[in-house]
Amino acid sequence: MSEVIVENVHKSFGTVEVLKGVSLKVKKGEVFALIGRSGSGKSTLLRCMNGLEKVNSGHIEIAGHAMSRDPAQLRKLRTDVGIVFQSYNLFPHLSVGENIMLAPRIVRNVAKSEARNTAKEVLKLVGLSEKFDAYPDELSGGQQQRVAIARSLAMQPKVMLFDEVTSALDPELTEEVLSVMEQLARDGMTMILVTHEMGFAKRVATRTIFMHQGTIWEEGASREMFANPRTPEMRQFVKSDV
Ligand code: ADP
Ligand code: MG
Repeated sequence: MSEVIVENVHKSFGTVEVLKGVSLKVKKGEVFALIGRSGSGKSTLLRCMNGLEKVNSGHIEIAGHAMSRDPAQLRKLRTDVGIVFQSYNLFPHLSVGENIMLAPRIVRNVAKSEARNTAKEVLKLVGLSEKFDAYPDELSGGQQQRVAIARSLAMQPKVMLFDEVTSALDPELTEEVLSVMEQLARDGMTMILVTHEMGFAKRVATRTIFMHQGTIWEEGASREMFANPRTPEMRQFVKSDV
């Protein structure tokens, strides 16, 4: 059973086709790395997977929910898919705890005491138990990004999507965020991550997808792919990136 199914997805912006028939399948507990040059369509693909972008054609199914234009159906799918971006977008006027409790309270209609307990649990998972009452501007970038991950986890998603979540961070802060993601992977979360951290992709991702010009150019077991890129494009990319 696949937790994520993407079948022949096409997506255009105006006359420019950005995804040209993308298909992939991710099983429960698998970690996929999505790599490729800037502009190859990685972010668009992730955004299509949680309905932030509408596809022109093709089929997407996540955790048993088919992608749909029907708002109720879309809401169901979205509550099962967490997405974290490069920019953390925490609400500055809310404490860390309040930031995390917000979506479960509003979207899932969870009682306040339960939302609070969940918030404490997910903060512990990202190593920030002591920051429940802190405000975002009192935290480092790495800590804010970990709160953003915790906020996503509080919705108890079945699949997590990460879009270059460490790209804006200094190297020493990058490590603490990567280690949170690695722990999540070890705990069995199904994940798709867009990353420039090739070492991390090779070590943590079970499979890697190399996107090029809106298509899946190369896909395989991560170790094998990085050790032995088949296409000149991937070879060039890996070389220029490290
Ligand atoms: P990547 O994440 O791999 O860098 P993107 O998915 O962000 O690639 O972008 C793929 C292509 O789609 C780029 O050429 C980009 O300019 C274009 N694109 C992305 N989003 C939009 C949008 N909202 N409107 C128009 N073009 C877009
Ligand atoms: Mg991108």
